[in-house]
Amino acid sequence: MDRLQGKVAIITGGAGTLGAEDAKMFIDEGADVIIADMNEELGTKVASDLGDHAVFSLLNVTDEANWDAIFQFAKEKFGPVNVLVNNAGIGDKPSYIKDVDIDVWNKVLAVNLTGTLIGIKYAMKYMKQTGGSIINISSIIGNIGLARAAAYSASKAGVREITKTAAIEAAELDYPIRVNSVHPGWVDTGIVPDVMKQIAISKTPLKHMGSPEDVGNILVYLASDESKFATGAEFIVDGGVLA
Ligand code: NAD
Repeated sequence: MDRLQGKVAIITGGAGTLGAEDAKMFIDEGADVIIADMNEELGTKVASDLGDHAVFSLLNVTDEANWDAIFQFAKEKFGPVNVLVNNAGIGDKPSYIKDVDIDVWNKVLAVNLTGTLIGIKYAMKYMKQTGGSIINISSIIGNIGLARAAAYSASKAGVREITKTAAIEAAELDYPIRVNSVHPGWVDTGIVPDVMKQIAISKTPLKHMGSPEDVGNILVYLASDESKFATGAEFIVDGGVLA
């Protein structure tokens, strides 16, 4: 299959469960991929298992000083970047707002929301001439909220809104860049604690959690030119989750 032939993608959080699956699916469709993650050991292994079309690069999404280097590294290795997947994310420490720990709140917002914002900023800088697709990983929790996860819900709602803003700005500035968000429901990965899994299934009308491939299929579409008329949109893949 060659739906992504000639594409060069940076996937943040690429060492994690969803990011690594997305990288595999992108490569199967002909792309070259930078696995950008803070976890050097896992990221190096993921990239090496994927073969010559993947390479690891250390990235902390919250540190703006890292971002020029990663776009330049990608260009030297594979060519100009035309897909950025802002996928790096962390979960909340479960607590009611009445007990919220502001340090945890700030950390979740920094990685999930500010990290995505900085990624968009640098994708605009590096993709404004060649064009491309920015895919921001939100969550259905960003649409409906979740008790004891205020920071996570707020961060993912923020990702939804900056996606729409960035899409309008790119169009206003005549940058050939599309920006969309993906909102997975409950997917069986390490970010979902075991205690949440039965609750997750009970809230999902399709009665099972999603798989990383269920999410990856949407990402392949958004990275490809098949989605050339989609921008500022949110793509929900959640088995029909109920609030
Ligand atoms: P995961 O924990 O397996 O992967 C997350 C990756 O992000 C890890 O490799 C981690 O090292 C990396 N990371 C964390 N902080 C970082 C930083 N500051 N800079 C760079 N990398 C960093 O989680 P996952 O389930 O694969 O989730 C991936 C994305 O999908 C997250 O944004 C998550 O919120 C979102 N999501 C997941 C689900 C789900 O049910 N699994 C549902 C909705 C949305």
